[in-house]
Amino acid sequence: MTALTTAGCSSVSTNNDATTFDYHVDRFYDLQILRYQVPGFDTLPLQQKKLIYYLTEAALQGRDILFDQNCKYNLAIRDVLEAIYQHYPKEKDAKQFEQLENYLKRVWFSNGIHHHYGMDKFLPEFSQTYFETAVRSIDSKYLPLYAYNNNVDELLKELVPVMFDPSVCAKRVNQAKGEDLIATSANNYYEGVSQKEVEKFYGAQKDPKDATPISYGLNSKLVKEGGKLVEKTWKIGGMYSPAIEKIVYWLNKAMEVTDSDPQKQTIAKLISFYQTGDLKTFDDYSITWVKDTTNHIDFLNGFIETYGDPLGMKASWEAIVNYKNLEATKRTEILSDNAQWFEDHSPVDQRFKKSKVKGVSAKVINVAILAGDCYPATPIGINLPNSNWIRQEHGSKSVTIENITSAYDEAAKGNGFKEEFVYSQTERDLLEKYGFITDNIHTDLHECLGHGSGQLLPGVDQDALKAYGATIEEARADLFGLYYEADPKLVELGLLPNTEAYKAEYYSYMNNGLMTQLMRIEDGKDIEEAHMRNRQLIARWIYEHGKKDNVVEFVNKDGKTFVRINDYEKMRTLVGQLLAEIQRVKSEGDFEGAKHLVEEYGVKVDQKLHKEVKERYAKLNIAPYKGFVNPVYEAVTNDKGEITDIKIRYNEGYTEQMLRYSKDYHTLKVKN
Ligand code: ZN
Repeated sequence: MTALTTAGCSSVSTNNDATTFDYHVDRFYDLQILRYQVPGFDTLPLQQKKLIYYLTEAALQGRDILFDQNCKYNLAIRDVLEAIYQHYPKEKDAKQFEQLENYLKRVWFSNGIHHHYGMDKFLPEFSQTYFETAVRSIDSKYLPLYAYNNNVDELLKELVPVMFDPSVCAKRVNQAKGEDLIATSANNYYEGVSQKEVEKFYGAQKDPKDATPISYGLNSKLVKEGGKLVEKTWKIGGMYSPAIEKIVYWLNKAMEVTDSDPQKQTIAKLISFYQTGDLKTFDDYSITWVKDTTNHIDFLNGFIETYGDPLGMKASWEAIVNYKNLEATKRTEILSDNAQWFEDHSPVDQRFKKSKVKGVSAKVINVAILAGDCYPATPIGINLPNSNWIRQEHGSKSVTIENITSAYDEAAKGNGFKEEFVYSQTERDLLEKYGFITDNIHTDLHECLGHGSGQLLPGVDQDALKAYGATIEEARADLFGLYYEADPKLVELGLLPNTEAYKAEYYSYMNNGLMTQLMRIEDGKDIEEAHMRNRQLIARWIYEHGKKDNVVEFVNKDGKTFVRINDYEKMRTLVGQLLAEIQRVKSEGDFEGAKHLVEEYGVKVDQKLHKEVKERYAKLNIAPYKGFVNPVYEAVTNDKGEITDIKIRYNEGYTEQMLRYSKDYHTLKVKN
């Protein structure tokens, strides 16, 4: 499960030398596009360069899958917008053309028409008339008319309401309590079915006594055909076949140049999964993948995370390719070597602890490509696989992505955030001194130990917390990280310089959870996204439960609200108490307990504070969300067509990259 970045709040300066690398690429709406470096790529041996190259190609071939998963109209809309952008004269109406360009940039960023984080549909600023005129004016060969009986009217009839009517496909993932979450979500994981039908369909397949259950429904769309529920599986010969065939083509190339035999087997199993769609094979693959820890180069490629499905079953497609950051990996190796100590000393009930922690492998990596649901917005840490029994029996692999965190950090220098939102010079000094390392350690702890800790009581369904499951799981991992960030053990292990450093993370966590993350929420809205709910849940719970001792407070200074922590030690005690409770909820599958915690602390927004934060934030002109362009890899060949080198370059712009991807990796038709 991924830990998404906390944007501005986690960005603090380090003492690195200034570099000439330009991290800033583009800026529009609430988004900023950055660039990341791939340190050391040039010095890799040719075999490893080729492996990375083939795996990046396999990663880029899946782009269209995610667009289609997010909403079934996304590919058509993207095609039409790109056609207008490239073939309709700007001079006709420069202002509306620019509005269309910005809308298209947002569609690219979100892999569709819904905000990548808020999940709401965003509306074009250009008029419907402008859009219709443009569509009718350009040469129809640029439009995906093959899907509309060669008829422009039909195309417009379908796409115009989807783009312009706020009530159509309003939300990609709806989490609102009491509504039919399936019927009201615009994602493309279900069609013509109700939440009740979905729950019944998968409920009937589950055997509570099965100790090694597959991830039901993970790789298919569930539809109703002739009154019957049918799964359309994403595999070769099934749904998304043209894209998956291309992915497999490049995975086969990668198999020829793997780092090791186990890695070859891992890729072979992944190919077999793509060929059969069999979820038992997927589990086999996951087990091989999790055990395969020795290679310098590693990758993710597949249907992995389930945040896009309100019921948390269907997985979006994503891919990354990465290699070890050897120096920083020493840090996470120390943590994983001591995994049992951390498990034994955690404040949770004995019954919920693992008596033997298995195979927590942790490393710090640099990414070489981001794709699918990791692009352009990307996680900064990843812990997989998601299947509980595999984690319990075979362990999990956990990474912190350091070339991404360091790009955030460099790009945020001097943006004024700390001056505006941090209470006093004392806290600013703390963040300045320790912020980068404590933030990275928190991610390490979250991914490498947090998600891997604890166990379900026998017979508890891993989906028992339903729509609250993702938030509770993220809270559990975050709390585990917060609890140990303050433990003297980290100083003893040489991971933190002293017993004061953790305060930097405590401050930035509370400041973010209580206040600054609100900058990302639209006016009048509640919090929907699981990671954001989790952060507010933790911060609000600690605030409320520490009230009588004034552990954390809101202070008004010159008419502005600030968060102040008065008692860091007591705060740690509260972190431990909440961790114990959240672990109990998870281990017992206590749905009502999860619902109470999330609804009471994680969802509702303090409207007055929200307004203030947004006003103050707007003045800084910092984008609340960030994403990345990838570097470009180019194969150099000799006259026999053999690859002699892979060159990397960093000069591709955002629009340039998106248009190139749409041209070179357009693997799917607009209707699937
Ligand atoms: Zn996580």
